[in-house]
Amino acid sequence: MSRDPWPTGQSSRRDLHRMALALALAPWASACTPAPLRSLSAGPQWQSDPFALGVASGQPQPDSVVLWTRLRMAQADAAHQAQPQTVVCELFADEALRQPLRQWAVQTDASRAHSVHALATGLQPGRSYWYRFVCGSAASPVGRTRTSPALNDKVERLRLALASCQHYEQGYFVAHREMAQRDLDVVLFVGDYIYESSNPKYQVRQHSGGVPTRLDEYRQRHAQYKTDPDLQACHAAHPWVMTWDDHEVVNDYADDEDNKFSDPQAVLRRRAAAYQAYFEHMPLRLGPDAQQPQRMRIHDRMAWGQLADVWTLDCRQYRSHHACPDPNRGGARVVAGCAELQDASRTMLGQAQEAWFSQGLTQSTRRWKLVAQSTQMSSTGVPTPLGRSAFNDGWDGYPLARERLLGTIAQAQLKDVLILGGDVHMNVAANLRVQANDERSPVVASELVTTSVSSRGMSETLAKQIRDNNPDIQHLRSDERGYTLVDVQAAGVSAEFRSTPHPAMPASTLRTQAQWRVNSGVAGLVRG
Ligand code: FE
Ligand code: CA
Repeated sequence: MSRDPWPTGQSSRRDLHRMALALALAPWASACTPAPLRSLSAGPQWQSDPFALGVASGQPQPDSVVLWTRLRMAQADAAHQAQPQTVVCELFADEALRQPLRQWAVQTDASRAHSVHALATGLQPGRSYWYRFVCGSAASPVGRTRTSPALNDKVERLRLALASCQHYEQGYFVAHREMAQRDLDVVLFVGDYIYESSNPKYQVRQHSGGVPTRLDEYRQRHAQYKTDPDLQACHAAHPWVMTWDDHEVVNDYADDEDNKFSDPQAVLRRRAAAYQAYFEHMPLRLGPDAQQPQRMRIHDRMAWGQLADVWTLDCRQYRSHHACPDPNRGGARVVAGCAELQDASRTMLGQAQEAWFSQGLTQSTRRWKLVAQSTQMSSTGVPTPLGRSAFNDGWDGYPLARERLLGTIAQAQLKDVLILGGDVHMNVAANLRVQANDERSPVVASELVTTSVSSRGMSETLAKQIRDNNPDIQHLRSDERGYTLVDVQAAGVSAEFRSTPHPAMPASTLRTQAQWRVNSGVAGLVRG
């Protein structure tokens, strides 16, 4: 843990003063006011590596990006636990770290689990930067990040990797190993970053600790995931743009209802703990609401020059409770003949997010409208004696909210809307109509769902039933784990499902399961 020499004297002091100004713009400015100069060389002599959880960057803008790390204090360094710590963030123009741009100090302490969210501002659009953190005697690994292009830039490409569902126990993160090696602009992660629960049937390695419900337990779970070398490599290689799904809190939760119908106030307390731990471990601009810690805004929009708008939607925090749940068990289930599904007041996004999204969508002037959200939008129902079945946790459980969203696209005659999702542990390519599977209802948008990084998928029997009864679905396979490469260009979007049979083992390598394409101006998938 040696630290490389840093230019000393006046120049670094000038940089520090410049950054003090930039820091005033950071939303958590109170948590990271510039430190006194002496701290640049002071700080603990560490017995074990405080940067063992790695580094990350995220939410790129044309002129800024969030840089993240968290100090982990092993038993030998427990004496530092109660102390506020000063972490210096260093930014470079080149991979060899020969061209330092600036350094600035960020304060952190135990109230935020010694996490660091350093907003690097005043950057050039559409270029790579390298960064690392220094605290006392220790220096972090080096991360690479990238800003988004200027808003009016006629940029030719956006290369992203779509991923979700990384159950630590159910497989190794070889998908992240491959993503880390690729030339990507952004990793788009759409939920189930951690899992709170275990399935003893599928365990190639184990969670430490039981099912988290309290802040310290969620912190421990996140920290364990962050020790994975492949996940660390993927965070260090690319900026991430993220949303969450259910397992970051508890399986199948819907707003303040969990899968056991627990007291809503207790669910909100647990959710507040989960959201705080999530923020502490992710490269995000905003944390939990200071007044209402059980609330945290994660939905966002990122522009990629004139080529694309990328929305990240929150399908958990504001959604209506499940329709027709099992009264004894709660949570998700497959329902049929459920009249509640036809209640138009039921919502997947909540009123405010839905209004914000449809306004943004209809006013967007960019070519591609990429809508990243946590689950599957196309229907997966099958015929039953009581009528068509619906999985009440996905968009099939919120059919009128889905109809509103797709109806907005149809009415505004929007071209080039591509829905991106995860959650269901299978690769899906589907056409989206206002009325699912009804040939008289035109295809208005396209959908790509990525399989899980490691979590087990549904049985082939069930997958076949879904394929056979849903002609809108062009591709559906649940037997492999991986991620999806998405190459966005003005003329079309090409997607490659990269995967390996379950479970992903340490030496597994990915191959291309299928390639699909959406051509600009024509909604719907074609073979790539
Ligand atoms: Fe999942
Ligand atoms: Ca999920």
